[in-house]
Amino acid sequence: MRIELVNTGSELLLGRVLNTHQQWICRQLADAGYEVTRQVAIADTGPAICEGTKEALSRSDLVIVTGGLGPTADDITRDKIAELLECELREDAGTVERIREFFARRKRPMPERTRIQAMIPETAEIITNHHGTAPGLLIDINPNRFGGGIPPACLIMLPGPPRELRPMFVEQVLPIIRDRFPLGAEFACRTLKSTGVGESLMEEWLLEPLRELEKRGLVVGFCARTGEVDVRLVASGPDSTGIVSEAVQIALSVAGEHIYGSEDEKIEEVVVRLLSERNETVALAESCTGGYIGHRITNVSGASAVFLASHVTYSNEAKQRMLGVSKDTLAAHGAVSEAVAKEMADGCRERSGANYAIAVTGIAGPTGGTEDKPVGTVFVALASKKGTTVFKRINSFDRETFKFVTAQQGLELLRKEIMNTG
Ligand code: ATP
Repeated sequence: MRIELVNTGSELLLGRVLNTHQQWICRQLADAGYEVTRQVAIADTGPAICEGTKEALSRSDLVIVTGGLGPTADDITRDKIAELLECELREDAGTVERIREFFARRKRPMPERTRIQAMIPETAEIITNHHGTAPGLLIDINPNRFGGGIPPACLIMLPGPPRELRPMFVEQVLPIIRDRFPLGAEFACRTLKSTGVGESLMEEWLLEPLRELEKRGLVVGFCARTGEVDVRLVASGPDSTGIVSEAVQIALSVAGEHIYGSEDEKIEEVVVRLLSERNETVALAESCTGGYIGHRITNVSGASAVFLASHVTYSNEAKQRMLGVSKDTLAAHGAVSEAVAKEMADGCRERSGANYAIAVTGIAGPTGGTEDKPVGTVFVALASKKGTTVFKRINSFDRETFKFVTAQQGLELLRKEIMNTG
């Protein structure tokens, strides 16, 4: 099956917006057993849209076009594709009503211009937008007059904003694709998410134990990103579900300590889930991460049940006043030290009444390093009813990556502690 993805938007070509649809849609399709054969980003001008779509249709069974379905003057995808397919646009009463309701719910007047989004090519099926006003559209190109004799093609148009496109794709578009283009063989795919171990080591641990399953059709892929390694286990053909679940079991038995979740889970989501299952709470004492751990935790729905407080104690004075770190400890060991990290975690747990307290103190750089404590030095502490653990790491990155990796290490320390406490 040939699938092409056409991302419209001049901002993508000017480097003003990162084309996340390319990565995200390809990933969703790959995990469902479909591979995109070609992807192109094009300007949102009439000729580019018509040419790009026509070319893609001339080679494909399925073409997905993103962007340009909105109400503004530069949103011309719908019009240009109707022009290309020589079909009329008609106002769809149901869509007008949904747009009206969208504005009524937000108690805002409906700009007349938004009504243009209800102009639907006459041959199109509507894919309802539950998170915005521009519906997605599906058009069967049958016969495929652009394809020189190839089978009919399906053209799907999706709105540009990721918060609208993503739920529409998962909830509505993927089921349509599965229904219209059933896979020829059984397919299974699992992605395990790990942290705290590098890609090469993970590969070294897993390749030998998975060798037998590879002979039966398992394909193992590793993808390293900052502070994490994804292990992708895929099989297609007879018993692929069995092969992939055996592979998951083997991976967990070999590297389970470092595997915190699966698919698109984030470590902060896992931590919030584990804490809420146990009716437990966490508080934070953040120095070098400047509140970033709290930011990640509060991005998770349900955080309010488990997250008590975050003290952003950047100065020595704040560490003393807000957490009770002793002046003598600071003078004897310096703010970036095991002793201070421990006192921060202990003070935070005691003052907040939380079951767990994470504390971090370090040197983000690029200045401030010494021979003893080079840039990137960080102490991460966790206080719990079992006592206080502190470890040292050297996270030599730019400031933002330093904060991400340090936060990851604090969250992972907490996750392991919860898991080991049972
Ligand atoms: P709108 O109603 O917002 O105009 P639309 O369907 O017309 O929606 P666009 O105007 O193409 O979509 O894009 C709207 C916004 O969505 C862009 O400004 C950009 O922030 C985001 N966006 C569009 N395409 C992409 C993409 N490929 N990757 C990431 N973000 C994108």
